[in-house]
Amino acid sequence: MRPLPSIATISELRTELDQHRAAGRSIGFVPTMGFLHQGHGSLIEAARRDNDLVVVSIFVNPLQFAADEDLSDYPRDLDHDRQLARAAGADLLFTPGVGEMYPENTVLTTVSVDALAGNWEGASRPTHFAGVATVVAKLFSIVGPCSAYFGEKDFQQLAIIRRMAADLSMPIEVVGCPIVREADGLAMSSRNSYLDPEQRAAAPVLRRALDQGLELIERGERSPVAVAEAMRAVVEAEPLATLDYAAAVDAATLAIPEELSGEIRLIIAAQVGRPRLLDNAGATLST
Ligand code: AMP
Repeated sequence: MRPLPSIATISELRTELDQHRAAGRSIGFVPTMGFLHQGHGSLIEAARRDNDLVVVSIFVNPLQFAADEDLSDYPRDLDHDRQLARAAGADLLFTPGVGEMYPENTVLTTVSVDALAGNWEGASRPTHFAGVATVVAKLFSIVGPCSAYFGEKDFQQLAIIRRMAADLSMPIEVVGCPIVREADGLAMSSRNSYLDPEQRAAAPVLRRALDQGLELIERGERSPVAVAEAMRAVVEAEPLATLDYAAAVDAATLAIPEELSGEIRLIIAAQVGRPRLLDNAGATLST
């Protein structure tokens, strides 16, 4: 297989993509932090299906890590990423260094979507989503008009990016893609590599908690509190997991409604060993 071309500077990427757009080609863009797995692969495949040219960025963004988080030892494997991206249908990698993205070493301009960023992940990671929104806005500005693919795995992130793109009239179609899971139900994540074998065996408890919540809803439960309590009980029965939050929320606002109706999302986060694991599942309720 031909090696995947890789561009590391903003100006070269702009020139290249402008040429493709001038020739009438549509661009699909998949932003990632690398250490790619089949979850990322599914986004690349979706971009491949919809577009003429598929660009994957790999950039571990310092802005979205707090001082006590895992920026310096976030897992990396560029050779493997190249192979996976190529096999999934990417045409081009964008691999800027930190100095290319943040030449001043700091940014004075940031993007925040406050009303969606304070709760859930934002409660334990207060600066995280401003870091994500800022780098994604920057990547959108670099890549230009395109369709951009994000996983529902990071559901709050997807909601924030959709809203940012709409509020700022960015020429970007934001496409959400379903969660890809391991055979035992664990949502794939680069940070799963931190789990030791015992923790790995315990980690599917998040999926089981979501299933329990969905089953309750299926049986007619419409109280978000009752559904959250059922999910909490499942996680609390697993000694290796420490629940951060479990909630049933409105899928668009991420707020807890009085009563569950319409498009809802069950969201959950728990610490299992070193990583905080996230998961979620959706349901559409007619009554
Ligand atoms: P990351 O490299 O963790 O920043 O993730 C890059 C993109 O891949 C984000 O849009 C994630 O939501 C998405 N992603 C990560 N894990 C999965 C998964 N298991 N299924 C689907 N998408 C995922």
